[in-house]
Amino acid sequence: MNIKNELFYGGRAMLRDNWLCQRQATQLRTHEFLNSKEMAALQNQYLHRSLQFAIKKLPFYQHISPKFTVADAPRVLREQFPIIDKSTLLLNRRTLYPRNGNVLLWQSVGKTSGTTGTPLAVFRSMQSVLLEQAFIKRHWAWAGFDEDATRVTLRGDVVVPLTQTAPPFWFWNRFNRQLLVSSRHLREQNIAPILQEIRRVRPHALQAYPSTAYVLAQLLQQRDELLHIPFLFSASEPLYQHQRDLILERMGCSVMDMYGMAERVAFATGCEHGNMHINPDYSYVEIVDEAGQPTDKEGYIVGTTFHNLAMPLIRYRLSDRTRWKQGTCPCGRNFPMIEPVTGKYEDSICGSNGAVVSPSVLTFAFKGVQHIKKSQVVQIAPAHWQIRLVPMVGFNKIEEQKLVSNIHQLVDAQVKVEVLLQDDIPTTEAGKFRWVVNLMRLPVA
Ligand SMILES: [Zn+2]
Repeated sequence: MNIKNELFYGGRAMLRDNWLCQRQATQLRTHEFLNSKEMAALQNQYLHRSLQFAIKKLPFYQHISPKFTVADAPRVLREQFPIIDKSTLLLNRRTLYPRNGNVLLWQSVGKTSGTTGTPLAVFRSMQSVLLEQAFIKRHWAWAGFDEDATRVTLRGDVVVPLTQTAPPFWFWNRFNRQLLVSSRHLREQNIAPILQEIRRVRPHALQAYPSTAYVLAQLLQQRDELLHIPFLFSASEPLYQHQRDLILERMGCSVMDMYGMAERVAFATGCEHGNMHINPDYSYVEIVDEAGQPTDKEGYIVGTTFHNLAMPLIRYRLSDRTRWKQGTCPCGRNFPMIEPVTGKYEDSICGSNGAVVSPSVLTFAFKGVQHIKKSQVVQIAPAHWQIRLVPMVGFNKIEEQKLVSNIHQLVDAQVKVEVLLQDDIPTTEAGKFRWVVNLMRLPVA
């Protein structure tokens, strides 16, 4: 396993962390100081280039005239390019993928997780793979994190065999000064050596899913211990308030959240002041309502790629929802702000009146309920939820009733709630934990 890890992480470091990527990251940092007019000009240039590529390469857009100026690109985008989504791509592979859907040898293929249906493949150019890393590095730089700093990674990486019962439960990636801890081994019986190793490497940052960082904070709480890590880089799942609170209490991290997706049509990064900034040099982002019209209220995120010209995704609608946040941020960057992204629409549940219930609101019901190790809220039928719990010693009927009555008092008075006690709640294949799951097929509007 160790030789395999050495080869994998060494090879990846060579590909991703070379001088070219470093130069790109430095170049990207200069964009943070552009004024809004300069930023718009840069966006128009990128947008114009993506639209021209799409018209030229993808039959789906061949009816659109390429004769428009750089300044006109946003208008042409809105007026002539329809909003598409995952199902449009799956149905139109011959016209929305380059070369009838045949990938070239030097291109990489990114896949969506498929946790909510058919996985989707996206072709990526070599250049866009490198640039992605440069954008991530720019975000890290906001936290003063550079090549010489040490990080602990607690994500889905399988770095030791799952059956292993003795330490080490981690792999030291010397190429990137990265301690990869196996999140599958993050349990009570293994935590002592894991904490010892984390303290030994003195990390500047923890890179984790919100749920894995939360598990670490819970284990610290059980042991009545603190672990100081200056920054948390969280990504890939919504970060709920109750998670943020406990992580802060136990590790004192400044949370630097990041929002991205396999389709790579939008990228938002949390700054030192806790605001989420859309990176306007990464892609062209719109927020639209059910009818596809721009809105200042909550709506779907729609993105147009700037850098992956191997397969330009134009006005691609995600199932994630957010809204624009008004005002300016004290960090001074001219990057538009958004409110926290609420999870996948497929992963949201509805109340008794059919309206989507915010997971953050759901967390209120769990406040003050003790002895719960893990929980998951699942919609199994209209107005019918199942709360799956992994109880700890001390959990009893009174706690259970308190949870149910909290839901009826704080979240939804009419919804039918059943509680199911389980030994464990499995994560997805990628090691992600879905706190809210909808087992009903929701129509995506
Ligand atoms: Zn800011």
